[in-house]
Amino acid sequence: MQKLSFLENATQFEPAGADPLSERSSDFQQQSLRDVNVEKSGTRRPQELPCISEVSTPRGKKPVLKAMMTTACERDCFYCPFRAGRSKTRRITFKVDEMASTFDTMQRAGHVDGLFLSSGIIKGSVTTQDKIIDTAEIVRKKYGYKGYVHLKIMPGAEKDQLRRALQIADRVSINLEGPTESRLKALAPKKEYWTELVQRLTWISELRSAERLRASVVTQFVVGAVGDTDLELLSLSEKLYNQLNLKRTYYSAFSPIEQTPFENLGATPKMREHRLYQSSFLLRDYGWNVEDLPFDRDTNLPLHIDPKAAWAEEHLIHAPIEINHADRQQLLQIPGIGPKSADAIVAARATHRFTELSHLSNIGVKNIERTTPYILLNGKAPHQQLSLF
Ligand code: SF4
Repeated sequence: MQKLSFLENATQFEPAGADPLSERSSDFQQQSLRDVNVEKSGTRRPQELPCISEVSTPRGKKPVLKAMMTTACERDCFYCPFRAGRSKTRRITFKVDEMASTFDTMQRAGHVDGLFLSSGIIKGSVTTQDKIIDTAEIVRKKYGYKGYVHLKIMPGAEKDQLRRALQIADRVSINLEGPTESRLKALAPKKEYWTELVQRLTWISELRSAERLRASVVTQFVVGAVGDTDLELLSLSEKLYNQLNLKRTYYSAFSPIEQTPFENLGATPKMREHRLYQSSFLLRDYGWNVEDLPFDRDTNLPLHIDPKAAWAEEHLIHAPIEINHADRQQLLQIPGIGPKSADAIVAARATHRFTELSHLSNIGVKNIERTTPYILLNGKAPHQQLSLF
């Protein structure tokens, strides 16, 4: 427990579940609360450990233990606090049994319900991956835990290790870090883009479909440290969704860390991360193509407006969409209308026409003011209708 306490929030930049932004922010909020508690009492209760985060899992929001097998690493990625040779990093290493039994104790006591396991690389990727998998095996088999397990895949892990990880985990992640080979080289010179990372994602995709393995797959990018553009990041994200069936791409706004080669670089605005997530959802859930996204000339997204609203301002403001006739794809272009609302509109049209804004509110369209400028109801602009009252 003391070692876990020393880990602090080592994996704060690695989302473990389906709602990365809330996970991060709640983590930071809880962190400050915990710091207050520690100052007052001098000790930490298990549930106050910074390595526990509220995570959206397929079974709802759960307190998940986000831990590393070791914070030592033989590699030297330029952005990373765990890079080899960084004296400010406190190096903590867990044995396989130790991590598994600690998780079991915390889980049985009700402090956590879910495990995210990552690691620095020591004695090579294969040895490190074995430790992650062995820990999860013990958690599953010896302790009989059936809840959420998310395992990191080390760059260069073997195919059999990928298979085993997919068999025992609910989710696996292998971080590409950069959207192209040259961007990765600038971030992490010792990582091999194609052979260590992309090939592993391809193997995972093949294994999942050939062996019907249900674990989902995600990846993460470090955003903004080495000139990467939103167009690069989102073009690759689109391919990963469409071709390798990734569940999600995470974006982590670069934040400089003392005593790393990037310590003097500027931090990436959090809003950029937010716009990337919004765009990524349009690609994944709304049937958009990367060409539809409103990039500026520098191939980045504008920060001051959300991408769907920017597109609607350009394309819909003078050609609003008739709610009573639009197909699902057209409905999904309207700000404020997501997949659930679009389906509800299509279903409701079988029995009645939409003639008032309240009809949209009644079927669950929440931010009606975002929707209003871009739609027609029975051939009329709804703001004109509102002005009658
Ligand atoms: S391999 Fe992972 S833990 Fe090691 S320096 Fe690179 S990013 Fe950090």
